[in-house]
Amino acid sequence: MISLPVPASTSSLPEFKPAAGKDCVFEASGLAKDYDDGRVQALRGVDFRVSQGEFVAIIGPSGCGKTTLLQMLGALDHPSAGALLYRANSIPDLSDPAGYRAREIGFIFQAFHLLPTFTAMENVQMPMFETHLTAAERRDRAASLLKSVGLEHRLNHFPAKMSGGERQRVAIARSLANGPGVLLADEPTGNLDSENTELILELIIRLQKEQHMTLVLVTHDAGIARRASRTIQMKDGRIIADGTAPPIAS
Ligand code: ADP
Ligand code: MG
Repeated sequence: MISLPVPASTSSLPEFKPAAGKDCVFEASGLAKDYDDGRVQALRGVDFRVSQGEFVAIIGPSGCGKTTLLQMLGALDHPSAGALLYRANSIPDLSDPAGYRAREIGFIFQAFHLLPTFTAMENVQMPMFETHLTAAERRDRAASLLKSVGLEHRLNHFPAKMSGGERQRVAIARSLANGPGVLLADEPTGNLDSENTELILELIIRLQKEQHMTLVLVTHDAGIARRASRTIQMKDGRIIADGTAPPIAS
């Protein structure tokens, strides 16, 4: 097993207050999100807490608000109502949401979202430009991260020359660029065949454990959700079940 390099020096922002509750990473209360002037109510009052080191799966049918919720956690969009805290800091009120995303959060998307004109090495280094690492340090760290996801033989490949599983490995390495405490994964295996789904899932779970990260993984697949220590089930913008029991088939 290859251990990851130490996180970039700026990964833990001193300006973030410690959690109010014990090890509380996220806390949502009455969280709501409307689109199109209220014609679409994507989230209709969501309450939950996520603790440090938890692996939470969010499951529910297409359109129930999973991606919207993840976007709120990642400060990619603003809630319409309610409160949402990251370690006791209000996410919608963050003074530097881009810095929060770059240093505290790692994102993994279904569609990989790699930059097509950049190599694997360059894609992984992108978030590091938010830090004070030197060019040599960025390159060393990117190479180590790519090695840790089994891509030491693909460092200078472009995304178009890689398989879907390899592209998602690059995206995972990129998500870890600045040593985040939290991984947000939105249907990370949605574009992969069953063999790669298993490999990528194993990889994400292994890295989460090794790095003691908090993992919030969105899926519509009950089999994937069963791997989590806790499952939050959503329907029509609301949480309808939250616990360690197997999810209700949707
Ligand atoms: P899920 O990820 O569970 O499939 P989403 O969070 O993407 O669900 O969407 C929840 C609801 O909000 C859906 O009805 C969707 O059509 C709507 N929605 C999502 N994003 C937007 C947007 N940018 N503008 C308008 N409606 C949206
Ligand atoms: Mg979605």
